[in-house]
This record gives sequence, structure tokens and C-alpha cells, in this order.
Amino acid sequence: MGSESELVRGDPGQANGVESDRLEPQKGMNTVTRPRILVVGAGFAGVECVQRLERKLAPDEADVTLVTPFAYQLYLPLLPQVASGVLTPQSIAISLRRSRKYRTRILPGGAIGVDLKAKVCVVRTITDKIVNEHYDYIVLAPGSVTRTFDIPGLTDNAFGMKTLAEAAYIRDHVISQLDLADASDDPAERAARLQFVVVGGGYAGTETAACLQRLTHAAVQRYPRLDPGLIKWHLIDIAPRLMPELGEKLGRSAQEILKRRGVDVSLGVSIDKAGPEEVTFTDGRVVPTHTLIWTAGVVASPLIGTLGAETVKGRLAVTAEMCLPGHDGVFALGDSAAVPDLAKGQEGAVCPPTAQHAMRQGRKVADNVMAALRGQPLQPYKHKDLGLVVDLGGKDAVSKPLGVELRGLPAQAVARGYHWSALRTNVAKTRVMTNWLLNAVAGDDFVRTGFQARKPATLKDFEFTDTYLTPEQVRARVAGEALDQP
Ligand SMILES: Cc1cc2nc3c(=O)[nH]c(=O)nc-3n(C[C@H](O)[C@H](O)[C@H](O)COP(=O)(O)OP(=O)(O)OC[C@H]3O[C@@H](n4cnc5c(N)ncnc54)[C@H](O)[C@@H]3O)c2cc1C
Repeated sequence: MGSESELVRGDPGQANGVESDRLEPQKGMNTVTRPRILVVGAGFAGVECVQRLERKLAPDEADVTLVTPFAYQLYLPLLPQVASGVLTPQSIAISLRRSRKYRTRILPGGAIGVDLKAKVCVVRTITDKIVNEHYDYIVLAPGSVTRTFDIPGLTDNAFGMKTLAEAAYIRDHVISQLDLADASDDPAERAARLQFVVVGGGYAGTETAACLQRLTHAAVQRYPRLDPGLIKWHLIDIAPRLMPELGEKLGRSAQEILKRRGVDVSLGVSIDKAGPEEVTFTDGRVVPTHTLIWTAGVVASPLIGTLGAETVKGRLAVTAEMCLPGHDGVFALGDSAAVPDLAKGQEGAVCPPTAQHAMRQGRKVADNVMAALRGQPLQPYKHKDLGLVVDLGGKDAVSKPLGVELRGLPAQAVARGYHWSALRTNVAKTRVMTNWLLNAVAGDDFVRTGFQARKPATLKDFEFTDTYLTPEQVRARVAGEALDQP
């Protein structure tokens, strides 16, 4: 993925609302005879796939295009540390244009529909133009979005923890609650602004509650008018245990750490209703709060629904080779696909939505795309989980690398060591390490940037879930383009 892949436009044309001005590769590339590989999504799965294709494909073997709304790959596991201000947002946004020698054409936009029969992906560019991208092979890696339920007020009043903008927004929001409480003389308003609710006791929610609680605990020292006792964090989950994937003992350790820090953990509880100034729990409690962070799981990107193909709990049903049955040249992986988990050896088991699976699947899909291109047999994906690391901030962590249960500093060393080594570039590694050292030496800082002040802040605003077409709209747009051609 390099700066060589500049974009230029062909002749603009309009057909039934579809702009057929496909963004053409520059420098006289012969795109007529070369197969076109289209990768959708520049996350863990998409970037691994593209990198391997770039390394292993001869330049004249195929053209590779990457559709992505952002110019970076987001290292999601460290997002709670951005929300709590330990890391700057830029340190976990890893540039896609890091080197001159890569040749992938990057199409800045989001895929909003795929017509499998016509082999066309409809893309909304970042300037809101709709373009049709024709492909011979497509790799679908658009990841997932926050899973919501039909709870009154939820989608209007909850924040997610899935994008860089959400993490930066939450940081400002939490600090602004302290500022507003400090300025207020109304005891009820003060109490409401200083209560925070996180829903979801998986690793994302637990890390988020833990890291943000540390931030408010440190910040309140700088607000002499505020009673630290008023600050209250709630972490709730409908499940009976925190992070069940860690096992009972480590889950309990994490719960004890949070309890010791004053986080109120309620299990077997969800929310009934969410408003701008209060949240009602299913156990009847009404918590006055202006902060509801919703991390109760993820669901495949809405792009998958536009295919009209079989899904498993919303994820695209694919074979162990990550192919879509009945459609040559269609591959899917990562959070958006239900890839059979062969390492588990259980009928119907699918790989959990984790970064380690997405990265490894990305490499395997690249190999399979090349095998398909060269008429060679495809290989199934098989990988045993390496474990989980959970950074609760400061010296607190729980980890289970290769089945070994760790707590405290050893767990923290493993967690940070793992994430640090998994960052793709030396620049990102240096930024993250510098931020960690600075935080350890100088402590937290409590700057509210105001970059996103007064901007709409609902889940759909951050995750663009309302931008997709229906399968019928996709077909109509593609058919319109075909009619328009001489
Ligand atoms: C807070 C948090 C903490 C986590 N911690 C861990 C952890 O500790 N360990 C672990 O293994 N996993 C962790 N995960 C899960 C892990 O991040 C995901 O499983 C992983 O990112 C999935 O990779 P992916 O490539 O499928 O999707 P992503 O990495 O999410 O990438 C999807 C990409 O597609 C882009 N995209 C979305 N829609 C479109 C579209 N329509 N068109 C084009 N591009 C699109 C997105 O912008 C994104 O760049 C965590 C997740 C979160 C949210």
C-alpha cells in the first residue's frame, strides 16, 4: 500500500443515479487483461491480506484495490487506552501508506453493497460519490459494528467503543462531566454527572470501565470542589461472570480488582431503558447518569446483509477455506465471517471475533486468492487460540497466554508486550511505548480537546450503519450501469 497508487478519474458519467466513473489506476497500468482483486476493509484481516498479496504476487499477475473509509488500520485492542488518555489517538492509527514500495490502489470510501452475480461492489467514496467497482476476486473484511438490542432510548443515548472517533469523544465527554459537575451548585446534577455506566463484561467493556475509572480517579484530585466519593462507575452484564473466555478464576480476579477500585459490578443485569439523564437497570435500579457506554458485543458489518447470502448469527457463512459456497472468487474473513473453527474439532464451531484470528485468516485468504488465481488447490484455515490479555490500567491486568493464568505485573508485562509486538510499524511501536513511559512518569493529563464538541454522537453517527443499500437497491444500481453501456 504505497504512494505509487495515486488515483485519477476517468470520464464522469451518470446512469440511474450511479456514477460509472470508476477510479482508474494511474501510470498506464494494463487493467484489461489482469485479474482484479478487491479487498474491502483495512482492519486486521484486510491489511494482513493485502500485505501478503503485495509480497507474493508478481506485479503483472493481478491488480489489487483496497476499499477503506480511513487511511489507517486501527489497533482496536488499545482503544480503551485512547479513551482514558493513556495513548494519543494517532499512536494506534497505523498508516496504510507507510512505504513507497507497495503498489495497492487505495479507494477512499466504504462499500455499501455487493452484487455477487454481476461481480460488482458499490462504493460510497469519502466525497459521497457512488462508484461501481468491478472485480474478479473479492475479499470481504469489513469487520463488525456494535451490537444493539431493541431497548428504548439505547441507540440515541449510548456511546460505543469501536472507532477512534468514539474513543476520543468518550474521553472528552468524561472529562466534561467532571468540569460540569465542578461548576454546578445543584447536588442532583453533580451526582448524575459523576456516575458512569458501562454495559458489557467482555474484555472490551471491562477494560473500558477499568481504564476510565482510573482516569476519573486521578482527575478528581484536580477538582477540589468535588467530593471523590460521588464518582461511581457501574459495570453491568447479563452474563453470570465477567469475561467467561478467561475462565472462572481469572474472571473473578478481574472482578476483585475492579471492586477494590470502587467499580460496582452487577452481573445478571442489563438495562431496560436509556435516557439522556438516567438509565434504568433490569433489576429496577434507576441510575442518574449522562454517560452510558455500550460494549455488549458486536455484529457483522451491515455490508454482509447486502449480499443476500446465508449467514450464521449475522456473519457470512463461509467454508474453512473462507470461500462463499456457490460463488467463485468470493472470500470473507475476520469479524464479518463465520469461519469454521477446525482447531476446536466441534461440529458447527466458528472462530470467535478476535484480532488474532482476523490477522491469521488474512494471511491464509491471501494464499487462497493466489491459489485460485493460479489454478492450485485452496487450503483450510486452522489455528489454535493463543489466549487472551486484559489490561486493566496501571499495574493491574489478567492474562491467559497459552493457557497459563497470570495476574498483576506479570500479566501486565505479557499484555503490553503482546500488544506492542503486534503493532505493525516501528513508528506505532515508538509512539505507544513513549506514551506508556510518559504516562508512567508524568501521570494522566486531563485535557478536553473539544474537537468533536456539539457534533452528533449516536452509534450510527460514529459507525455509519445507515449508509448501506438493500440487496434490491444494489442490483438496481448495477443493472442501471449495464444498461447505460453501449
Ligand atoms: C475495545 C476492543 C478491544 C478489543 N480487544 C481485543 C483483544 O485484546 N484481543 C483480540 O484478539 N481482539 C480484540 N478485539 C477484537 C478485535 O479488534 C477484532 O476481532 C478485530 O479487529 C477484527 O478484525 P477485522 O479485520 O475483521 O475487523 P476490523 O479490524 O474492525 O477492521 C474492519 C475494517 O473495515 C473497515 N470497514 C468497515 N465497514 C466498511 C465498509 N463498508 N467498506 C470498507 N471498509 C469498511 C473499518 O473501517 C475497518 O478498518 C477488541 C475489540 C474492541 C472493540
